[in-house]
Amino acid sequence: MKLLIANGHLIDPSAPENTGMSVLIEDGRVTGWLKQNETPPEGCEIFDASGLLVAPGFIDMHVHLREPGQEHKETIASGCAAAVAGGWASVCPMPNTNPVNDNAAITRYMIEQAAKAGLANVFPIGAITKSSDGSELAEMGEMKAAGAIAVSDDGRPVPNAGIMRRAMQYARDFDLPVIDHCEDKSLSSGGVMHEGRISLLLGLKGMPALAEEIDAVRDILIARETGARIHIAHVSTKGAIEAVRRAKNEGINVTCEVTPHHFTFTDAAVEGYDTNTKMAPPLRSEDHLEAVLEGLRDGTIDAIATDHAPHHSDEKALEYDRAPFGITGLETALGLAFTELVHKGVIDLVRLVELCSTNPAKIFGLTGRGSLTPGSIADVTILDPELQWTYSNAESRSKSKNNPFDGRQFHGAAVATIVAGKVVFKG
Ligand SMILES: [Zn+2]
Repeated sequence: MKLLIANGHLIDPSAPENTGMSVLIEDGRVTGWLKQNETPPEGCEIFDASGLLVAPGFIDMHVHLREPGQEHKETIASGCAAAVAGGWASVCPMPNTNPVNDNAAITRYMIEQAAKAGLANVFPIGAITKSSDGSELAEMGEMKAAGAIAVSDDGRPVPNAGIMRRAMQYARDFDLPVIDHCEDKSLSSGGVMHEGRISLLLGLKGMPALAEEIDAVRDILIARETGARIHIAHVSTKGAIEAVRRAKNEGINVTCEVTPHHFTFTDAAVEGYDTNTKMAPPLRSEDHLEAVLEGLRDGTIDAIATDHAPHHSDEKALEYDRAPFGITGLETALGLAFTELVHKGVIDLVRLVELCSTNPAKIFGLTGRGSLTPGSIADVTILDPELQWTYSNAESRSKSKNNPFDGRQFHGAAVATIVAGKVVFKG
C-alpha cells in the first residue's frame, strides 16, 4: 500500500520550510518527502491535493462518545464517523459513560469498538476517581496499561483539594496528564448560563466566571506543588486564561484548550433561549471572548478541542432550565476555526495545525503523531481553506443533532481525512 499526497501545500510546524513537498506513505507510515517533480515509486496511488493544505492528522482532545451506556445519543462508530468527516483523525473520549470509564475493562472496550469501526483513532481518557464521584482514586496505572492517555472527572470536577492533590501525585507517578474541568459547583450550582447582564435580563440563573477561575487557580497550585502535568479543559474566562499565562511564565507544567463555541459566541446567543446555546462552561460575555482570542494569538492556549457532547433532541427540546448541557461539534469545529480565526487574522495556518495536531499530540504523549516527518504514523488531515459550504444538522454523521450552527455558512473546511495511510473520509 503506497500513497503519495502530491501537489498540496504541506504545513508541518516541525518543518516549516518544506511546504512544497509531497508526502509518501507506505504501510501506514510516512516514509519520505518528495519534490513535486520527483517520480513517485512504482505502484503508488496518487492523492491530488492541488490547491489544498496537507497537515498532520488532527487530534480532538475532548469528546463524549456516549458508549457504553447512552448509545441512543452516539456510539463510538457514529462519533468516529462524525470525527473523520470533520477532519479529526483521532479523538479522546471523556470517561463520563455509563458505567464510567474508571477501569481497564472499559478502556479496552472503547478501543476495541473503535478498531471495529475502522475510522478515527480513539484514545480514551480514564476517570480520576471511581465513578467520578470525587472520593476514591480510580486505577490509573491499569487504565494506562489498557491504553488510557490521561485522566479526568470532566463534568464532575473533584471538589476536594486533598483528593485532587493525591490524584495529581498518583497521576504524576504514572506520567498521566490530569485534565481539569474547572468549575467550583458551590458557586455555579443551579446556574444555566454565564452570570452577568444578560442572565439578569433573561431571568436565568447564572454561573459566575469565578467558579472557573477559583478551580483553575487551585489546581495550578496543586500542580506546582506536586509536579503533575495539568491540562485545563475548555477554558472560557479571562481569569483562568490569565492564571494559565502566569503559571506558564513560572514554569509550571500547565496547558489548556478552548472550544470553537467559546471563540465564536458570547452569552448574547442565549437571548433566543435556544437550548443549543447551553453548555458548561457557559458562553461568556464579550470581555471573556476577547481574552480567549488573545490567548489563541499569544500562545497561552495550546489546543482547540470540540467538547462534542451529543444529546437526544427530546432532551434538548425541554425548557432552557431543564435541558442538558452540551452541543455537538466535530463537524463544525474546523469551519469555525477557519471562518472565525484564520480568515479574521487571529491565527495563521501554522498555528492552526499546532492547535489541532502538534500540541495535542505533545500534551498526550502520542508519539509518532502531530507531525508528518518521515517515520511518523500516516494520519493526515487535508484542508481547503477557501471552500464555501453550509453546515446542515440533517446531514450530520453524529446520531445527535444538537448543534447551534445548523444552516450556517463557513469559509474553509477539512476535505479528506487519512488514518494510518487509509483514506477514511473524502468530501
Ligand atoms: Zn467539561
